[in-house]
Amino acid sequence: MYYNHKTLIYLDGKFVNANEASTDLYSQTLHYGYGVFEGIRAYATEGGTKVFKVKEHYDRLKNSAEIINIPFDYEVQELVDATYELLERNNLTGAYVRPLVFCDPNMTLARPNNVSIMICAWEWGAYLGDKQLRLTVSSFCRPHPRSIKIEAKVCGHYVNSILATNEAKDKGFDEALLLDSDGYLAEGPGANLFFEKDGVLYTPQLGNILPGITRATVLELAEELGVEVKQGLYKPEVLASADSAFYCGTAAEVIGIESVDNTNFPKNWNDSLGKKLQEAYSQLVRNSEKTLSTAH
Ligand code: PMP
Repeated sequence: MYYNHKTLIYLDGKFVNANEASTDLYSQTLHYGYGVFEGIRAYATEGGTKVFKVKEHYDRLKNSAEIINIPFDYEVQELVDATYELLERNNLTGAYVRPLVFCDPNMTLARPNNVSIMICAWEWGAYLGDKQLRLTVSSFCRPHPRSIKIEAKVCGHYVNSILATNEAKDKGFDEALLLDSDGYLAEGPGANLFFEKDGVLYTPQLGNILPGITRATVLELAEELGVEVKQGLYKPEVLASADSAFYCGTAAEVIGIESVDNTNFPKNWNDSLGKKLQEAYSQLVRNSEKTLSTAH
Protein backbone atom coordinates (compact mmCIF):
# COMPACT_ATOMS: atom_id res chain seq x y z
CA MET A 1 0.00 0.00 0.00
CA TYR A 2 2.80 2.46 0.82
CA TYR A 3 5.48 1.17 -1.51
CA ASN A 4 6.30 -1.36 -4.18
CA HIS A 5 9.46 -2.79 -5.68
CA LYS A 6 10.15 0.45 -7.57
CA THR A 7 9.67 2.90 -4.70
CA LEU A 8 12.62 5.01 -3.60
CA ILE A 9 13.05 6.57 -0.20
CA TYR A 10 15.52 9.21 0.93
CA LEU A 11 17.82 7.86 3.64
CA ASP A 12 20.70 9.88 5.05
CA GLY A 13 21.49 11.75 1.87
CA LYS A 14 20.87 8.93 -0.61
CA PHE A 15 17.91 7.68 -2.58
CA VAL A 16 17.53 3.97 -1.95
CA ASN A 17 15.02 1.28 -2.80
CA ALA A 18 12.35 1.01 -0.09
CA ASN A 19 12.44 -2.78 -0.34
CA GLU A 20 16.15 -2.91 0.32
CA ALA A 21 16.46 -0.22 2.97
CA SER A 22 16.78 -1.53 6.49
CA THR A 23 17.13 -0.27 10.01
CA ASP A 24 18.51 -1.60 13.27
CA LEU A 25 16.22 -3.46 15.66
CA TYR A 26 18.17 -1.96 18.57
CA SER A 27 17.17 1.60 17.60
CA GLN A 28 16.23 3.74 20.58
CA THR A 29 13.29 5.01 18.54
CA LEU A 30 11.81 1.56 18.07
CA HIS A 31 12.08 0.71 21.76
CA TYR A 32 11.14 3.99 23.40
CA GLY A 33 9.28 6.03 20.78
CA TYR A 34 12.12 8.54 20.96
CA GLY A 35 12.11 10.00 17.46
CA VAL A 36 10.40 12.84 15.61
CA PHE A 37 8.47 12.99 12.38
CA GLU A 38 6.35 15.14 10.11
CA GLY A 39 3.30 14.77 7.90
CA ILE A 40 3.40 16.93 4.78
CA ARG A 41 1.27 17.08 1.65
CA ALA A 42 2.25 17.66 -1.93
CA TYR A 43 -0.35 18.88 -4.40
CA ALA A 44 -0.49 18.72 -8.16
CA THR A 45 -1.00 22.30 -9.34
CA GLU A 46 -1.04 23.85 -12.79
CA GLY A 47 2.46 25.12 -12.15
CA GLY A 48 3.73 21.67 -11.10
CA THR A 49 4.06 19.88 -7.81
CA LYS A 50 3.73 22.09 -4.75
CA VAL A 51 4.68 20.82 -1.32
CA PHE A 52 2.47 22.93 0.91
CA LYS A 53 4.31 24.90 3.62
CA VAL A 54 7.24 22.56 3.25
CA LYS A 55 9.66 24.89 5.03
CA GLU A 56 7.32 25.25 8.01
CA HIS A 57 7.10 21.46 8.30
CA TYR A 58 10.87 20.98 8.28
CA ASP A 59 11.30 23.87 10.71
CA ARG A 60 8.87 22.09 13.03
CA LEU A 61 10.76 18.82 12.56
CA LYS A 62 14.01 20.55 13.53
CA ASN A 63 12.36 22.18 16.53
CA SER A 64 10.74 18.90 17.59
CA ALA A 65 14.15 17.19 17.53
CA GLU A 66 16.00 19.96 19.30
CA ILE A 67 13.60 20.39 22.19
CA ILE A 68 13.73 16.68 23.00
CA ASN A 69 17.57 16.58 22.72
CA ILE A 70 17.79 14.69 19.45
CA PRO A 71 20.67 16.10 17.38
CA PHE A 72 19.50 17.60 14.10
CA ASP A 73 22.37 18.41 11.77
CA TYR A 74 20.39 18.86 8.59
CA GLU A 75 19.79 22.01 6.63
CA VAL A 76 16.09 22.67 6.14
CA GLN A 77 16.75 23.63 2.51
CA GLU A 78 18.56 20.34 1.87
CA LEU A 79 15.50 18.45 3.13
CA VAL A 80 13.14 20.59 1.07
CA ASP A 81 15.20 19.85 -2.06
CA ALA A 82 15.33 16.15 -1.18
CA THR A 83 11.53 16.12 -0.85
CA TYR A 84 10.98 17.56 -4.30
CA GLU A 85 13.52 15.16 -5.77
CA LEU A 86 11.93 12.21 -3.98
CA LEU A 87 8.54 13.08 -5.47
CA GLU A 88 9.99 13.45 -8.92
CA ARG A 89 11.96 10.21 -8.76
CA ASN A 90 8.82 8.35 -7.65
CA ASN A 91 6.61 10.07 -10.20
CA LEU A 92 4.36 11.43 -7.49
CA THR A 93 2.43 14.69 -7.61
CA GLY A 94 -0.46 14.44 -5.16
CA ALA A 95 1.26 12.75 -2.24
CA TYR A 96 1.70 12.45 1.50
CA VAL A 97 5.31 12.95 2.59
CA ARG A 98 6.60 11.42 5.82
CA PRO A 99 10.03 12.41 7.16
CA LEU A 100 11.23 10.53 10.24
CA VAL A 101 14.29 11.20 12.36
CA PHE A 102 15.25 8.03 14.21
CA CYS A 103 18.02 7.18 16.63
CA ASP A 104 20.96 4.80 16.52
CA PRO A 105 21.03 1.54 18.47
CA ASN A 106 20.97 2.49 22.13
CA MET A 107 19.24 0.70 24.97
CA THR A 108 19.96 3.41 27.52
CA LEU A 109 17.75 6.38 28.26
CA ALA A 110 20.47 8.89 27.42
CA ARG A 111 20.34 11.19 24.41
CA PRO A 112 21.64 9.68 21.16
CA ASN A 113 24.96 10.50 19.53
CA ASN A 114 23.81 9.71 16.03
CA VAL A 115 20.53 9.74 14.21
CA SER A 116 19.27 9.00 10.72
CA ILE A 117 16.66 10.68 8.61
CA MET A 118 14.37 8.98 6.17
CA ILE A 119 11.76 10.58 3.95
CA CYS A 120 9.15 8.51 2.20
CA ALA A 121 6.10 9.48 0.17
CA TRP A 122 3.02 7.78 -1.17
CA GLU A 123 0.17 8.75 -3.38
CA TRP A 124 -2.58 10.77 -1.76
CA GLY A 125 -5.33 11.53 -4.19
CA ALA A 126 -8.02 14.16 -4.18
CA TYR A 127 -9.88 14.17 -0.93
CA LEU A 128 -13.67 14.10 -0.96
CA GLY A 129 -14.43 17.00 1.32
CA ASP A 130 -18.10 16.43 1.94
CA LYS A 131 -17.83 13.95 4.72
CA GLN A 132 -18.49 15.21 8.22
CA LEU A 133 -17.26 13.59 11.38
CA ARG A 134 -19.14 12.11 14.30
CA LEU A 135 -16.93 12.64 17.35
CA THR A 136 -16.90 11.34 20.88
CA VAL A 137 -15.09 12.96 23.79
CA SER A 138 -12.29 10.58 24.67
CA SER A 139 -11.68 9.06 28.07
CA PHE A 140 -7.98 9.64 27.30
CA CYS A 141 -6.65 13.16 27.83
CA ARG A 142 -3.74 14.71 25.96
CA PRO A 143 -0.42 14.27 27.77
CA HIS A 144 0.33 16.98 30.31
CA PRO A 145 2.86 19.52 28.97
CA ARG A 146 4.99 18.91 32.06
CA SER A 147 5.22 15.20 31.15
CA ILE A 148 6.37 15.68 27.58
CA LYS A 149 7.03 18.41 25.03
CA ILE A 150 3.52 18.65 23.65
CA GLU A 151 4.56 21.12 20.93
CA ALA A 152 6.93 18.53 19.43
CA LYS A 153 5.77 15.88 16.97
CA VAL A 154 7.33 12.91 18.76
CA CYS A 155 6.74 9.29 17.75
CA GLY A 156 5.86 8.12 21.25
CA HIS A 157 3.16 10.75 21.72
CA TYR A 158 1.08 8.94 19.15
CA VAL A 159 0.28 6.06 21.47
CA ASN A 160 -2.11 8.53 23.10
CA SER A 161 -3.65 9.32 19.69
CA ILE A 162 -3.93 5.63 18.81
CA LEU A 163 -5.64 4.75 22.10
CA ALA A 164 -8.13 7.58 21.65
CA THR A 165 -8.81 6.61 18.04
CA ASN A 166 -9.33 2.95 18.86
CA GLU A 167 -11.69 3.80 21.68
CA ALA A 168 -13.74 6.15 19.48
CA LYS A 169 -13.97 3.64 16.61
CA ASP A 170 -14.82 0.77 18.98
CA LYS A 171 -17.74 2.87 20.21
CA GLY A 172 -18.91 3.43 16.63
CA PHE A 173 -17.70 7.03 16.16
CA ASP A 174 -15.48 8.38 13.37
CA GLU A 175 -12.99 10.18 15.55
CA ALA A 176 -12.04 11.12 19.09
CA LEU A 177 -11.95 14.55 20.68
CA LEU A 178 -9.36 14.83 23.42
CA LEU A 179 -9.42 17.19 26.37
CA ASP A 180 -6.33 18.38 28.18
CA SER A 181 -5.54 17.14 31.69
CA ASP A 182 -7.56 20.02 33.20
CA GLY A 183 -10.65 19.12 31.18
CA TYR A 184 -10.37 21.87 28.57
CA LEU A 185 -10.88 21.18 24.87
CA ALA A 186 -7.56 20.22 23.26
CA GLU A 187 -7.50 18.54 19.84
CA GLY A 188 -8.16 15.44 17.81
CA PRO A 189 -5.74 12.49 17.59
CA GLY A 190 -4.20 14.12 14.50
CA ALA A 191 -6.00 17.41 13.93
CA ASN A 192 -6.76 20.75 15.58
CA LEU A 193 -10.21 21.94 16.58
CA PHE A 194 -12.15 25.09 15.67
CA PHE A 195 -15.76 25.96 16.45
CA GLU A 196 -18.13 28.76 15.53
CA LYS A 197 -20.52 30.63 17.79
CA ASP A 198 -22.48 33.74 16.80
CA GLY A 199 -20.22 34.46 13.83
CA VAL A 200 -16.96 34.21 15.80
CA LEU A 201 -14.46 31.36 15.50
CA TYR A 202 -12.87 29.81 18.58
CA THR A 203 -9.90 27.50 18.89
CA PRO A 204 -7.96 26.09 21.85
CA GLN A 205 -4.88 28.19 22.59
CA LEU A 206 -1.36 26.79 22.23
CA GLY A 207 0.14 25.12 25.27
CA ASN A 208 -1.69 21.81 25.45
CA ILE A 209 -1.83 20.99 21.73
CA LEU A 210 0.36 20.42 18.71
CA PRO A 211 0.80 23.80 16.96
CA GLY A 212 -0.73 22.71 13.69
CA ILE A 213 0.49 24.22 10.45
CA THR A 214 -3.04 23.91 9.07
CA ARG A 215 -4.32 25.66 12.22
CA ALA A 216 -1.91 28.53 11.53
CA THR A 217 -3.07 28.64 7.90
CA VAL A 218 -6.73 28.70 8.96
CA LEU A 219 -5.94 31.62 11.28
CA GLU A 220 -4.36 33.48 8.34
CA LEU A 221 -7.28 32.69 6.04
CA ALA A 222 -9.80 33.78 8.67
CA GLU A 223 -8.00 37.09 8.94
CA GLU A 224 -8.07 37.49 5.15
CA LEU A 225 -11.80 36.74 5.15
CA GLY A 226 -12.43 39.19 8.01
CA VAL A 227 -13.54 36.47 10.42
CA GLU A 228 -12.86 37.14 14.10
CA VAL A 229 -11.01 34.30 15.89
CA LYS A 230 -10.53 33.88 19.62
CA GLN A 231 -7.98 31.54 21.17
CA GLY A 232 -8.41 30.39 24.74
CA LEU A 233 -9.24 27.60 27.15
CA TYR A 234 -12.73 26.27 26.59
CA LYS A 235 -14.67 23.58 28.39
CA PRO A 236 -16.63 20.97 26.42
CA GLU A 237 -19.87 22.74 27.42
CA VAL A 238 -18.81 25.71 25.28
CA LEU A 239 -18.43 23.41 22.28
CA ALA A 240 -21.80 21.84 23.06
CA SER A 241 -23.44 25.24 22.61
CA ALA A 242 -21.55 26.08 19.38
CA ASP A 243 -23.21 26.54 16.00
CA SER A 244 -20.73 24.46 14.01
CA ALA A 245 -17.23 23.01 14.31
CA PHE A 246 -14.40 21.53 12.28
CA TYR A 247 -11.10 19.74 12.51
CA CYS A 248 -8.08 20.76 10.48
CA GLY A 249 -4.78 19.10 9.72
CA THR A 250 -2.43 18.35 6.88
CA ALA A 251 -4.05 15.02 6.03
CA ALA A 252 -7.73 15.93 6.36
CA GLU A 253 -7.38 19.62 5.40
CA VAL A 254 -10.55 21.22 6.83
CA ILE A 255 -13.29 18.75 7.72
CA GLY A 256 -16.69 19.48 9.23
CA ILE A 257 -17.85 17.97 12.51
CA GLU A 258 -21.42 16.75 12.43
CA SER A 259 -21.85 15.83 16.07
CA VAL A 260 -20.14 15.29 19.41
CA ASP A 261 -21.45 12.30 21.37
CA ASN A 262 -24.47 12.15 19.10
CA THR A 263 -25.50 15.78 19.60
CA ASN A 264 -25.59 17.49 16.22
CA PHE A 265 -24.42 21.05 15.64
CA PRO A 266 -27.43 23.17 14.65
CA LYS A 267 -25.91 25.05 11.72
CA ASN A 268 -25.94 23.50 8.27
CA TRP A 269 -22.32 22.85 7.28
CA ASN A 270 -22.83 24.61 3.95
CA ASP A 271 -23.73 27.83 5.78
CA SER A 272 -20.90 27.63 8.30
CA LEU A 273 -17.64 29.53 8.58
CA GLY A 274 -15.94 26.15 8.44
CA LYS A 275 -17.26 25.54 4.93
CA LYS A 276 -15.92 28.93 3.78
CA LEU A 277 -12.54 28.16 5.28
CA GLN A 278 -12.60 24.66 3.83
CA GLU A 279 -12.99 26.14 0.35
CA ALA A 280 -10.40 28.83 0.92
CA TYR A 281 -7.93 26.26 2.23
CA SER A 282 -8.57 23.88 -0.63
CA GLN A 283 -7.95 26.65 -3.15
CA LEU A 284 -4.83 27.86 -1.40
CA VAL A 285 -3.10 24.48 -1.30
CA ARG A 286 -3.96 23.67 -4.91
CA ASN A 287 -3.14 27.07 -6.34
CA SER A 288 0.30 27.30 -7.91
CA GLU A 289 0.55 31.05 -7.56
CA LYS A 290 -1.27 32.30 -4.54
CA THR A 291 0.52 32.17 -1.22
CA LEU A 292 -0.38 34.10 1.89
CA SER A 293 1.93 36.87 2.97
CA THR A 294 3.40 34.82 5.78
CA ALA A 295 3.73 31.64 3.71
CA HIS A 296 7.02 30.64 2.15
N1 PMP B 1 -2.69 17.72 16.34
C1 PMP B 1 -2.07 16.53 16.28
C2 PMP B 1 -1.97 15.72 17.51
C3 PMP B 1 -1.54 16.08 15.05
O1 PMP B 1 -0.93 14.89 14.98
C4 PMP B 1 -1.68 16.88 13.90
C5 PMP B 1 -1.15 16.40 12.58
N2 PMP B 1 0.21 16.71 12.43
C6 PMP B 1 -2.32 18.12 14.02
C7 PMP B 1 -2.80 18.51 15.27
C8 PMP B 1 -2.45 19.03 12.85
O2 PMP B 1 -1.18 19.54 12.51
P1 PMP B 1 -0.84 19.97 11.02
O3 PMP B 1 -1.86 20.95 10.62
O4 PMP B 1 0.51 20.59 11.14
O5 PMP B 1 -0.87 18.75 10.18
